Amino acid sequence: MSYENKTIHEFDFSLICEYFSNVERQGPGSPEVTIKALSFIENLTAQSSIADLGCGTGGQTMILAQNTLGQVTGLDLFSDFISIFNRNAHTLGLSDRVKGITGSMVDILPFEKESLDLIWSEGAIYNIGFERGLNEWKQYLKKGGYIAVSESSWFTNERPNEIYDFWMAHYPEIDTIPKKVAQMQSAGYIPVATFVLPENCWTEHYFAPCCDIQKSFLQKHLGSKNAEELIAGQRHEMELYHKYKEFYGYVFYIGKKI
Ligand code: SAH
Repeated sequence: MSYENKTIHEFDFSLICEYFSNVERQGPGSPEVTIKALSFIENLTAQSSIADLGCGTGGQTMILAQNTLGQVTGLDLFSDFISIFNRNAHTLGLSDRVKGITGSMVDILPFEKESLDLIWSEGAIYNIGFERGLNEWKQYLKKGGYIAVSESSWFTNERPNEIYDFWMAHYPEIDTIPKKVAQMQSAGYIPVATFVLPENCWTEHYFAPCCDIQKSFLQKHLGSKNAEELIAGQRHEMELYHKYKEFYGYVFYIGKKI
């Protein structure tokens, strides 16, 4: 979702929810990438507690659950997403150990201190900010527990003004991979792994499903300025990605609490 930070209040929440409810993922990623990130996490058992913060409708959460044992709790600000999440968990026969709850990642989280074995967050930590999220969420992890988050990052030291300005307006905390790794280290984690999400996480798994629903969405909301703006923003984000993808992308950061 592309309303990082400043613009969230300018949009009509119900429209955003309706739009993104129609796609499996609300941000770049893929089942393969979720499984790859998971491969760096050790010591998960049937007793493990996992939280997926900013889970959306749960595309990645279900993959996570299917490839781990233990309890998985998804948390998202939007109750409509959580309803879909819980429906999906039920359909997949996972509802005995996968539960979605509505809440904000910015608030005190509904977990005991030092109770979680793994905190997951794909394409969502920007809502609290990478550094703040790493620092605040650490209290909920057991010693030796893991955090795995994907975050937009610069690939190069220099970049064209157009894409720089776009990100400064939407998420100024975007930074280079070494800077993000250093932030992870300073927050009290061992940086275990980092990898760049392949292009198909954007094109095939995020943009293409969104493109498929844009036309009918606009038709349904014919004449709605908000709907037009939402889709225009989506299309702009996609055009920028195609133009500047060698300069930025999503990166998975995996750390272990010391
Ligand atoms: N992890 C999902 C969704 C990413 S989009 C995926 O990869 O598909 C970002 C998600 O963060 C959205 O579902 C949005 O509703 C959620 N979100 C935004 N602000 C939030 C907050 N303060 N607390 C929890 N979730 C939030």
